[in-house]
Amino acid sequence: MESQQQYPQQFSFEFFPPKTSEGAEKLTKVRDKLAVLNPKYFSVTFGAGGSTQQGTFDTVTSIQEAGFNAAPHLSCVGSTKENVRAILNSYKDKGINRIVALRGDMPSGTHDIGEFRFANELVEFIRTETNDHFHIEVAAYPEFHPQATSAEDDLINFKRKIDAGADSAITQYFFNPDAYFRFVNDCEDLGISVPIVPGIMPITNYTQLARFSDMCGAEIPRWIRKRLAGYGDDKDSIKAFGEDVISEMCLQLLDAGAPGLHFYTMNISTPTLAIWENLGI
Ligand code: FAD
Repeated sequence: MESQQQYPQQFSFEFFPPKTSEGAEKLTKVRDKLAVLNPKYFSVTFGAGGSTQQGTFDTVTSIQEAGFNAAPHLSCVGSTKENVRAILNSYKDKGINRIVALRGDMPSGTHDIGEFRFANELVEFIRTETNDHFHIEVAAYPEFHPQATSAEDDLINFKRKIDAGADSAITQYFFNPDAYFRFVNDCEDLGISVPIVPGIMPITNYTQLARFSDMCGAEIPRWIRKRLAGYGDDKDSIKAFGEDVISEMCLQLLDAGAPGLHFYTMNISTPTLAIWENLGI
């Protein structure tokens, strides 16, 4: 973890673009509650195949205009260089200087992968087009990407993104801190020393979490699954147990020298705030 201990701990919160004006109003309140915690930035996801291009732009600009740092996610699958160039320029014009660069996943039923195959190509394109304007974040997978041919290949592919010019990484969420520690050690062995910030998913709903985790390759340890399943519809117990487990994991990560935490807020403030309080930051 030596590579990580040199970096000051920074905190960030992720939103998805709301689909309605009520959702946007609600998100403004959530943002203001979380802003009190003085995050480095708020990031906003980008729907597969560009489905939320306008929504991401609107959400990011409203965060920026309210005086906070905003980082749009940008996924390149199915996109053209011309389209990505236009998006980058629109963010530059708004004074945005941080971006989360991703490959994304092809929406089902679409086949044209576009002009970028992998995220390292997007990172390279952003650097070529805009030099050092953007701080580029990329995704990292301590439990490995579901399509990875092997753990080793996935690490090499992660390195490609750093070599292409990424400044730091945010991880997929995980519930096994050892996977993160081992991943960081492996990165150090490959000469990677950028900040690798753990992505944190608060636990609020078992069924949804189980479905999503199966899809994105995040393992829910058996003891956590069993307990959550055992609570059934008892939301209060799920909430209390979830806060406890995630807070303990965050403390373990920060104590070991993780360079901060990135919270997948799911556009609600309460679970993140409850964990935050337990961290005593
Ligand atoms: P890549 O780094 O390109 O990796 C994808 C796969 O290809 C891996 O298996 C890798 O090993 C392999 N690979 C990579 N490069 C090469 C290469 N050069 N040659 C051969 N194989 C290679 N999705 C969205 O749609 N919108 C979002 O806003 C979004 N935000 C995210 C934020 C975070 C922090 C994370 C962790 C994920 C996010 N995702 C988002 C999900 C992400 O788009 C998917 O996990 C996607 O499947 C992979 O994207 P990537 O950028 O990690 O891809």
